[in-house]
Amino acid sequence: MPSGVQTEVKTYQMHINGEWVASKSSKTFPVYDPASEEIIAQVPDANADDVNRAVAAAKAAFEEGPWATTTAQERGRVLFRLADKIRQNLPMLAELESRNTGKPIVEAEYDINDTATCFEYYGGLATKILGFVNPVPDNAVSLTMKEPIGVAGQIIPWNYPLLMAAWKLAPALAAGCACVLKPAEQTPLTALEFAKWFGEVGLPPGVVNIITGFGETAGAPLVQHPDVNKIAFTGSAAVGKVIVKQAADTVKRVTLELGGKSPNIFFADADFEAAIDGALFGVFINQGEVCSAGSRILVQKPIYKKFVDAMAEKAKKIKLGAPLDRDTKMGPLVSKEQYDRVRSYLDVGKKEAKLAFGGGRAEQFAKGYYVQPTIFYDVDNSARIAREEIFGPVAAVIPFDDEKDAMKIANDSPYGLAAAVWTRDIFKAFRVVKSLRAGIVWINHMQPTYVEAPWGGYKQSGFGRELGPWGIEEYLETKQVHINLNESPIGWY
Ligand code: NAP
Ligand code: MG
Repeated sequence: MPSGVQTEVKTYQMHINGEWVASKSSKTFPVYDPASEEIIAQVPDANADDVNRAVAAAKAAFEEGPWATTTAQERGRVLFRLADKIRQNLPMLAELESRNTGKPIVEAEYDINDTATCFEYYGGLATKILGFVNPVPDNAVSLTMKEPIGVAGQIIPWNYPLLMAAWKLAPALAAGCACVLKPAEQTPLTALEFAKWFGEVGLPPGVVNIITGFGETAGAPLVQHPDVNKIAFTGSAAVGKVIVKQAADTVKRVTLELGGKSPNIFFADADFEAAIDGALFGVFINQGEVCSAGSRILVQKPIYKKFVDAMAEKAKKIKLGAPLDRDTKMGPLVSKEQYDRVRSYLDVGKKEAKLAFGGGRAEQFAKGYYVQPTIFYDVDNSARIAREEIFGPVAAVIPFDDEKDAMKIANDSPYGLAAAVWTRDIFKAFRVVKSLRAGIVWINHMQPTYVEAPWGGYKQSGFGRELGPWGIEEYLETKQVHINLNESPIGWY
């Protein structure tokens, strides 16, 4: 076992109003290591009372605390200091993230580095929130001012725990909001470790509150709370639909980053070796637990058979292993629940299509939620494994005839998060880009994600955009100000 691995069960408190607190109910729940299946921590089980005090703290911080008068420059510096803390503590955060999610340590290091970059980006953007002078037809000055939206409730999933927290916290803080963040029940640990530095970097109490708990008992009261002005949610489409309904009564702003069933499209003229790599990387990175996973692999018929064979051959060589082993390419799935869910889809897939590789538990491991990288082929796009998000290492390979056929299949999905197209023909690539109903399209690659570029989906993959200047807009209100320059009465009566 690598040095520094924590073996005792650590009990955490959550972070409300600058203090470490238990749940009002005193209840806790366990957090697991999915490789050993053992409990590694206990965290508070937040309920509606805890949500109320976290929201009250955020509201007070937003309206009355020093945060309300902090300048954009000062907010930017706080974000830079948070980024420094993350970089200084990268080994600890990456190891904890890897242990708690099961993701390979090398990928966890990449994620934590990306998390720091996100805080740096928004630290810089804090001083670039600009207003306008509107050209109104009168002797007046009309201004557009941007203001923070207020208290933001932020609910995130378990696949990229600290990175998803950063995508939400960094733009919100740059905008001047106060936050209540609920990490996923499975993976709350890195967010809690991160909260240790809030006071030190100059975040006043109550500006960021981290509550640990379950969706129904901690997430739902946050969504319904009248003093929360905005909900930013990343998670499944099923829960996203519930959130929109729950937010309606208080007319909250809502942004949704939901799931996908993204097509990864390979034309016969693509570079074959690069294509095989791209197909495997696109769907098996992070054990397939990726919202933008290229889980529908569309392959043009002339290369179809060779493509399936080559994918299966290469998939054999993907190294499954302990998350903390530096050679590991795929670790265990995050939880027993997710493991059971993915395995149930393997049974569905075996009835719906042909199996090229995988299809079961990775039996070489005595313990842990390991699933083999799995490739189904001759999949019809109407099959459940082509329509439903599995969120695990399961690829559905679908043959197509020509460009028109590929576009019909690619767009025939309730989702529209991402897509990728592989071809050497730039004209074809751009025709395809225009036809695809997806928020993110890659050409000759799949998955690169940058804080500078927008992220979000079409159709049931959600609405709103995170990252880049688009991400901060979602935390800003627009105020119109009119200044009358006529020095005489209006002359109305
Ligand atoms: P999930 O089950 O939808 O949960 C997401 C979050 O919502 C969790 O914190 C969850 O709490 C909470 N939640 C559940 N029910 C709730 C309710 N009634 N009210 C308020 N909050 C509630 O998703 P997941 O299984 O954690 O993550 C996988 C999903 O996330 C996939 O569909 C994936 O595509 C999506 N995802 C999307 C993106 C993107 O950018 N588009 C990125 C990453 C992941 P619990 O912790 O108790 O479950
Ligand atoms: Mg859940």
